[in-house]
Amino acid sequence: MADPRGFMTTPRQTPLRRPVDIRIQDWREVYTDFGHAELERQAGRCMDCGIPFCHGGCPLGNLIPEWNDLVWRHDWREAAERLHATNNFPEFTGRLCPAPCETACVLGINAEPVAIKQVEVEIIDRAWAEGWVPPQRPSAAALAAGRKVAVIGSGPAGLAAAQQLTRAGHAVTVYERAESPGGLLRYGIPEFKLEKRQLDRRLGQLRAEGTMFRCGVSAGLDLTAEELRASFDAIVLAGGATVPRGLPVPGADLDGIHQAMEYLPMSNRAVAAGGGRPADPAISARGRDVVIIGGGDTGADCLGTALRQGAASVTQLEIMPRPPARRPGSQPWPTYPMIYRVSGAHEEGGERVYAVSTLAFEGDEADRVRALRLVEVGPSDTGFSPKKGTERDIQCDLVLLAMGFTGAERGDLLTGLGVQMDARGNVARDSSYATSVPGVFVAGDMGRGQSLIVWAIAEGRSAAAAADQYLSGETMLTAAIAPTAAPLR
Ligand SMILES: Cc1cc2nc3c(=O)[nH]c(=O)nc-3n(C[C@H](O)[C@H](O)[C@H](O)COP(=O)(O)OP(=O)(O)OC[C@H]3O[C@@H](n4cnc5c(N)ncnc54)[C@H](O)[C@@H]3O)c2cc1C
Ligand code: SF4
Repeated sequence: MADPRGFMTTPRQTPLRRPVDIRIQDWREVYTDFGHAELERQAGRCMDCGIPFCHGGCPLGNLIPEWNDLVWRHDWREAAERLHATNNFPEFTGRLCPAPCETACVLGINAEPVAIKQVEVEIIDRAWAEGWVPPQRPSAAALAAGRKVAVIGSGPAGLAAAQQLTRAGHAVTVYERAESPGGLLRYGIPEFKLEKRQLDRRLGQLRAEGTMFRCGVSAGLDLTAEELRASFDAIVLAGGATVPRGLPVPGADLDGIHQAMEYLPMSNRAVAAGGGRPADPAISARGRDVVIIGGGDTGADCLGTALRQGAASVTQLEIMPRPPARRPGSQPWPTYPMIYRVSGAHEEGGERVYAVSTLAFEGDEADRVRALRLVEVGPSDTGFSPKKGTERDIQCDLVLLAMGFTGAERGDLLTGLGVQMDARGNVARDSSYATSVPGVFVAGDMGRGQSLIVWAIAEGRSAAAAADQYLSGETMLTAAIAPTAAPLR
């Protein structure tokens, strides 16, 4: 156990965010560094519970009490080993995960939970700095027995599957239609949440281990489903849930209305091309009155991006009522509660408007959006009902739709392979991540639907174990979760 009295003597600390007026001038990460000595004290708050509910909260089953104890004992190197035992990419989850482990922490029942996510990110950052993350190349015997595997998509699910299968000795090629690998880690999530050097460093490890990347190749088009089947012994589909939810209201086709995933990739590419001072991308918020429809993570990423681009104003609309400040009784410990949270982007500016629905957009004579008409809504038997007389207009000349995704693209790849879909628009799979087509597996958002990075990594690891079992008749790879696993509720 870590410090036996730590949970009573040490208050929870998390890192400070850089001052708003400074950080919105650049694209660097928002959080300041956290000292190693303070981090060891934070790890010492872990109670090493008989039943560590944090394990159940974390989809990867991260061995949280073990690495807390090791950090508290100054054995950071072994802590990094324990961390990598369950998580291929802790530098992504340590920065981006909403940390359902912390809302399941037993200390959180009557006090502030252990700062688990911070411990995670500090362990991996130090491990990289100290050179403790070398490539893990497969043995000659494993390579000799290996087969050929194609992974389609290079988001966290595809990368986790590829790394596991490469380490098991298979010859893995990752096909990615974008110009660089990373999926939403590179093109969706802004630099101020994840600096892309973190991604590139990990990709370097994958390459050094033997994973091959073919970018700018759209599987199903540039490489047909038949060619894939003929060239590989197994295929892991990890193409994400890329079909955005639309807003079918009058005026939705006006100029100046864009999906978040049109806007964010352009900004990320501009930042990547321009270093700290990117040129304005084709869709820019500079000088614009921006409305973001959707109050989730994607909306917050649009908000932080628009503020950094120099928007005149930003308003974020959400159909749900403002959540309570504290856990409601209906969402008790150890579930992940829907409470009011203030992300880094929300702290930086903009207005959040709750319990409203968009009725229509209005355009000017050039068919550019100039206003959005909304109405307040309240709960009803059918979902949400408009409140009469509450209609009003918001002036805007850039609207970003961030209302989530409805599933996987039914394009040439999925139709060419002939995989069955489920009722929710995802690729259907059995209990071992196998699709309806023998030798074809599916992981991440493409099978689960829109989710989180930690689930994508857990699925990638698990689908790799299933594919290895299929190819080799046995496997040493561990499966993190079943395809039907769900958050604690
Ligand atoms: C803007 C935004 C912000 C988010 N922020 C967070 C966050 O802070 N924390 C968090 O936990 N989650 C976040 N999420 C969710 C998280 O990013 C996803 O759940 C996760 O990336 C899913 O991983 P994946 O590997 O399944 O798919 P993706 O990351 O979507 O990767 C799929 C890849 O497959 C490629 N592809 C698709 N079809 C083909 C084809 N036919 N041929 C070749 N390549 C193909 C795509 O180009 C893409 O690169 C966010 C999502 C969005 C949209
Ligand atoms: S991956 Fe997420 S849930 Fe798991 S330990 Fe890290 S922060 Fe917690």
